[in-house]
Parts: sequence; C-alpha cells; structure tokens
Amino acid sequence: MTSPSTSFDAVVVGTGIAGLAAALALARRQVRVALLGPRAELPAAVADRYDPRVYAISPASRQLLADLGAWGAVPPPRTTTVEAMDVYGDLGARLQLQAWQAGQADLATIVESTELERALRNALQVFGVPWHVGRFAGLTRRAGANDVELLLDDGERMACRLAVAADGAQSPLRHAAGFTTHQRDYPATGLVAHLNAELPHQGSALQWFMPDGVLALLPMPATAAGPQVSMVWSLKRDQADALRALPEPDRSQTLETRLAEITQGRLGHLTVRSSLHGFDLQLQQATPLAMRGVALLGDAAHVVHPLAGQGLNLGLGDVAALAQAVGERESWRQPGDDRVLRRYQRARAESLAAMRLATDGLYHLFDVPLPPLAWLRNTGLQWLNHVPLAKRLLIRQASLF
Ligand SMILES: Cc1cc2nc3c(=O)[nH]c(=O)nc-3n(C[C@H](O)[C@H](O)[C@H](O)COP(=O)(O)OP(=O)(O)OC[C@H]3O[C@@H](n4cnc5c(N)ncnc54)[C@H](O)[C@@H]3O)c2cc1C
Repeated sequence: MTSPSTSFDAVVVGTGIAGLAAALALARRQVRVALLGPRAELPAAVADRYDPRVYAISPASRQLLADLGAWGAVPPPRTTTVEAMDVYGDLGARLQLQAWQAGQADLATIVESTELERALRNALQVFGVPWHVGRFAGLTRRAGANDVELLLDDGERMACRLAVAADGAQSPLRHAAGFTTHQRDYPATGLVAHLNAELPHQGSALQWFMPDGVLALLPMPATAAGPQVSMVWSLKRDQADALRALPEPDRSQTLETRLAEITQGRLGHLTVRSSLHGFDLQLQQATPLAMRGVALLGDAAHVVHPLAGQGLNLGLGDVAALAQAVGERESWRQPGDDRVLRRYQRARAESLAAMRLATDGLYHLFDVPLPPLAWLRNTGLQWLNHVPLAKRLLIRQASLF
C-alpha cells in the first residue's frame, strides 16, 4: 500500500460556512489543517440582487467571525442590523423584544451566505490554508493509532490526526465513521424569497406563529424599489407543494394574497421580488458528537427547525468549541485524542440540547389546532411580553451560539 499523498494534524471535510470557519479557526490556533470539498464560483455582488440564502447571525457568531478576521471583510451595505423582534401568536398575542431591553446594541445581523463565504475564503487564503478541491469518498483508521486516512473521489488520500465532518446534513464522513443519527422529518417545507415592502422594516424581524406554519420576515437592505425583507416561511408540506406547483404569475399572486392575510398590513403591501426556493425541514442529531479521530460540526452534527434562525449559529458555536478544545490541548495530546474530543463534546452538549428542545417544542406547541392549547400559547406569549426579566433572558439566550 502506498502512503497518502499528504498528511495534516486536521482535515476539515466540507466547504460550507461551518467548514470554512472551522479550518480558519484551527489554522489560527497553529493547527496544521487542510480543507477538502468543492469550491463553487461565488457570484460577484450586484446592486439590488441578493442571495436567496440569508442568515440571522447572532452577536456571539459575529464576534467569532470578527476574531477570525472574516467579519471585517463582509461589506456593511449588504448587511442589516436587527434591533427588535415582533412575534405574533395565532390569536392576536404579541411579544415585542428590543435589544436595549437586555442592554445590547442589537439582536442579530442579517447577511447573505455568499458574502460570508467570500469573506471566509479570503481569510483562509491570507492564512495559506491548503484547499483540496475534491470530495470525500471513504475512511480508514490505522489500527492502534488515532490516525485517520481519507480517500478522495479522485483517488488521492489524505492522512490526519483529526478529521472534521462539516459536510452537511447528509454527511458522507459521518456515515463512513459509523456515527448514529436520530432523524425526524417535519411535515413542512421552508419557503424562502425576497420581498418588496411598502413600509420600512425599521430594523425589526417579524414572526407570525400560525397553525399551518411559521412566517418570518427578516429586514434586508433597501433596493431601488424601496424597503426589502427576506421571507422564511415554514409551511405545511402539502400547502407548500401546491403553491410551488402553480405557474407564474399565479404563484406570486397567491403568495402575496396569503402574506397580506397573515401580516395584516404590518409592512404594507408585500410583493415578491425573487424566485421562490423550498427546503425540506428536519430535526436531526448525531451521537456522539466526536469519536476516534473524527469530530462532527454544523449540519453534519445537528439540524434544527429554522424557526429560531439558529442552525448556522449552532454550527459556529461548534467551531469555537472545537478550536478551543484542540488549540488548548496538552502538548503531548494529538488533535484527535479521545480526551480532547470529549472536552469538545461536553462544551457543546447543553447548548445543542437546549436549542433542539426549544425549536422542536415551539414547533409542536403551534402545530396543534386545539382551542385550549391555542388559548394557552397565546396567553403565554402575551404574559412573556409583560415580564422584563423573561424578555432579557430570551434575548441573551438568542445572542449566544
Ligand atoms: C429555510 C432555512 C432558513 C435558515 N435560516 C437560518 C438563519 O437565519 N440563521 C442560522 O443560523 N441558520 C439558518 N438556517 C440553517 C443553516 O442554513 C444551516 O445550519 C447551515 O447552512 C449549515 O452549514 P454547514 O456548513 O454546516 O452545512 P452546508 O452548508 O450544508 O455545507 C456542507 C458542505 O459540505 C460539502 N460536501 C458534501 N458532501 C461532501 C463530500 N463528500 N466531500 C466534501 N465535501 C462535501 C458541500 O458541498 C457543502 O459545501 C436555515 C436553514 C433553512 C433550511
């Protein structure tokens, strides 16, 4: 058997935002790290055209990205600061959260996926992190050692002490390494589109919990057509399928009518300004989070319902925790050492469980049409609105990762 062409302390498999950030965070901790994954061309930013994938980045995630030298490269005109959040229940209850209520400057920043990826790629280049453009195809562990060998689809091999799976929800590396995954599909689709609004959003994220789904409108930069918001609507799958099956212009007109019914003019008339994209929604958790020279992070480790806009923030929390566990290990331990990986796992256990419970619980609370439960959830929301301490805790929790 020939020896692998290249050998590293760590190889990050997957070149989405979590993978790019993980490679950068490890490199900045003096770990000899390489990236493995496809490198799709990123379209240049064009005035008034926005990536359909936008994220609400929490203050903790933003700080991590700033520490990694990436946040400063995201062009401010392409981002929007979220200063407040308005949540509506299905029986008229309303919860208003404002950043100042928790002594914070803001709740989150809305940013396009492409802009984040571009900033991370530039920082990786500055740090000279090698990027092998290819796909992971197989895994072997060397007997008696922590070392891992990755087989690539081009026939090359890479050896490392630690393989980091950041290769998304289907994670081929996670499967090959033998992790168990608990997975449940939500009978819902995440519909995403950008909308023109008649009235300014004033830096507020708006959310409506309805029996057939959760609608979120995230503030976006204004365009030549006026104020803009990004819609993330997790709608029951049959309804989403029916809407997506309509030809244009019926699809946009139907969508605009439904939006008008739900939002009741909160942002005036809303018109669709982009194509409509759909994502299947699921709850997924791999166990354990790391073992025998392989650590999982981002969607490869967990997928939550997008109603809290926290999926990527959780992934960035993993990045911070893994970089800390590996970067601060004792000098005699390897990056893939069991004890180092257990520290990573312990650091993430509480946040991951809390977010899983919160998003799944909220989804089910509003999924049940029974009148007593509808009354209870709306009363709860209204009660929260009058308890400053509870609001402060909610805001602080949403600011973490
Ligand atoms: C509708 C919707 C709205 C959302 N809104 C938010 C939000 O506001 N805030 C938030 O924090 N999160 C949000 N999320 C969640 C967020 O989109 C995901 O958590 C995040 O994109 C996951 O990033 P990732 O890098 O872990 O995985 P991915 O982005 O899936 O990246 C995986 C990478 O692995 C690569 N890969 C796959 N197979 C291989 C292989 N064999 N070899 C090498 N590479 C491979 C892929 O090419 C890809 O580059 C939302 C999700 C949905 C569905």
